[in-house]
Amino acid sequence: MELHLYNTRHRKKELFEPLDPQCLSMYVCGPTVYNRVHIGNARPAVVFDTLFRVLKSLYPKVIYARNITDIDDKIITAANESGESIESISERFAQAYFADMDDLHNQTPTIQPYATQHIEQMISMVQRLVDKGHAYAVDEGAEGQGHVLFAVQSMSDYGELSNRSLEDMLAGARVEVASYKKYAGDFVLWKPSADDEPGWESPWGRGRPGWHLECSAMIETHLGETIDIHGGGRDLVFPHHENEVAQSQCAHDGKLFVRYWMHNGYINIDGEKMSKSLGNFKMVRDLLDHYAGETLRFALLSAQYRSELSFSVDLLDQAKAALDTLYGALKQLETIEAVMPKSPAALLDQPAYQALLDDLNTPVAIRELHGLAKSMVQASGQQQAELKGQLLACAELLGLLQQSPSAWFQQAISDDAMSVEQIESLMAARQQAKLDKDYAGADDIRAQLLAAGVVLEDSREGTTWRRE
Ligand SMILES: [Zn+2]
Repeated sequence: MELHLYNTRHRKKELFEPLDPQCLSMYVCGPTVYNRVHIGNARPAVVFDTLFRVLKSLYPKVIYARNITDIDDKIITAANESGESIESISERFAQAYFADMDDLHNQTPTIQPYATQHIEQMISMVQRLVDKGHAYAVDEGAEGQGHVLFAVQSMSDYGELSNRSLEDMLAGARVEVASYKKYAGDFVLWKPSADDEPGWESPWGRGRPGWHLECSAMIETHLGETIDIHGGGRDLVFPHHENEVAQSQCAHDGKLFVRYWMHNGYINIDGEKMSKSLGNFKMVRDLLDHYAGETLRFALLSAQYRSELSFSVDLLDQAKAALDTLYGALKQLETIEAVMPKSPAALLDQPAYQALLDDLNTPVAIRELHGLAKSMVQASGQQQAELKGQLLACAELLGLLQQSPSAWFQQAISDDAMSVEQIESLMAARQQAKLDKDYAGADDIRAQLLAAGVVLEDSREGTTWRRE
């Protein structure tokens, strides 16, 4: 069983070999909690959750950490604008993020560290970088006093991850120029806080950490000096991940920080079409008001994670239709108990599994699920039960098809959808009308349900319902 992953560090697909096969470590940069997350934040969460599932199918223990950035200038600005406290804003939006991620059928990471709970470790890392000559504090009395900066020229291979030279970096607009920097490319490790800003006492005065420092300190604390996999969106390669490498490797005397760097591609939103029908289309929560979480997840996995994903209403509708097909196949076999594969090794022949082992090729894996569902419906007896088990086991690696077909077809998406109680009471009334030979009345009720998006399906066994 071989897993191949594309490693940004070497810009090629490589055989994945963990440092310790008994215990793997994976870190993914989480959200800055100052508002609800948009669909762009959902993609890495779903992609790396899928990888987490695949890794767990191959190795006995995987520690997956995804952080919460709860100290950042964006949060301070949001607090100043609303009057709500920083703690209240960050906790409220951290909880909202957890709820959104649950609704996308993501498993809870092993650890979800908060930046503000690691200030001591951050100060310790800054001190070590200063002691080793990789960072400097701005002189007392000078402009910019209280800042500690990382000296990028102190590291010979700075820029290796993003494949940029120092000149390229300086030409980029994202490097903040400040007079107190010895070199324009130097970045902030620690900065002073004004009296009305949150801050912690440090050897350089009262202040707060720079964003990049947070991840390096949390990784060191929870996962150690060298980790197997570090993930995030492509937009984080520079400067965020480049600076994480600089901090961690220089604090650890050059020891390798990350063995496999993985980055998901951008989401391209078909703005006009999306906004026309969904209003504020970018927020995960707004999308969840119109589509099931599993539909969103399916749409996010419909492209290979490194490629750009064009997100549109059409894509979501296609995802829903595909799930209707897959759940429809499972519904036909609802009474047949699945024979689950005994171990992941028993899945090895499955093309869907093989596709996932090939740098998480989710579109191919999804196509194979459809093929498997088709074979399952056409099969009979024991083979049908086994195919059902294989389908469910492969789909689980993608976080799909884990609810009952009835639950899928009966879930209410919008708040104004008819409740299950209302539907069942109308169905009982229709049944009574039929017994009373009031067929026009029974038809009226069917039409009333249909207008509310509820479809009745009569069969010899009785009447069932599903939402459109
Ligand atoms: Zn990070």
